[in-house]
Amino acid sequence: MATLHTHALVLRSNDFGESDRILHLLTPDTGRLTVIAKGARRSIKRFGGNLDFFNHLRVQVERRRPTSMARLELARLERTFHGLRESPERFALGSYVLELLDRLAPEGGAREDRDRLFRFGLGALDWINREPPDARMRVLLELRTLDAVGLRPEFGRCVRCANALVAGDGPRVAFRVADGGPLCRRCQGTNEDGLPIHLGTLRALEASLGFPLDRLGRIGWNAGAVNEAQGLLRRFLRFHVGLELRSEAFLEQLTLRGPEGKLRPPQPPS
Ligand SMILES: [Zn+2]
Repeated sequence: MATLHTHALVLRSNDFGESDRILHLLTPDTGRLTVIAKGARRSIKRFGGNLDFFNHLRVQVERRRPTSMARLELARLERTFHGLRESPERFALGSYVLELLDRLAPEGGAREDRDRLFRFGLGALDWINREPPDARMRVLLELRTLDAVGLRPEFGRCVRCANALVAGDGPRVAFRVADGGPLCRRCQGTNEDGLPIHLGTLRALEASLGFPLDRLGRIGWNAGAVNEAQGLLRRFLRFHVGLELRSEAFLEQLTLRGPEGKLRPPQPPS
């Protein structure tokens, strides 16, 4: 029997049987991990009501056999991100990030990647907890989640010939969602496929990848770039993540404000 002591975030929670709960956790030791929390619904003594979203937990997990589901034995609260339960916008964004991680985070993987992914999860919740949510925050969170799980789109180079994009390729280039990046003017030729997007938007997205999460709020974006980036990320996620996420529909209803403070008109689903 192997006992694991680690940190965890709850990505997903489902009732199971009369009194149990099945949880998807994100941990720095295992990546995504499915556990059963016996009696979690019958008695709050053991877990103290800690098995909630937006809680940073310290957990003890028992793994009896590699083939059977791991059992959650203890969950102590390390920190809770209160703000996410107090505002519908923050709640929706936080749920969305957790659902993206649940869909995209691998089980296992290299230690360094698991650590980085867990730190990203904590950092994302912390950012949503601290800053007023806006449309730009959603775009940046989508991008950074993709980056954290190893699905970073290409912004700076042509995906066909690998040449760096230059001003002469612009002002707009075709972004090929299926190929994960843009085409230079020469490779594009007269082909009209691809999502037209300004070079400036690609440069802004690329630059944002170099910012630590806790400083992302300082990046200035104009509304046009946010709109374009939203369209790009939306298509990229549809293609590479697939099915629509449950939390996304809720997030769409809330109409996040743009960074300039005006309400963004509702976007038709593409
Ligand atoms: Zn090219």
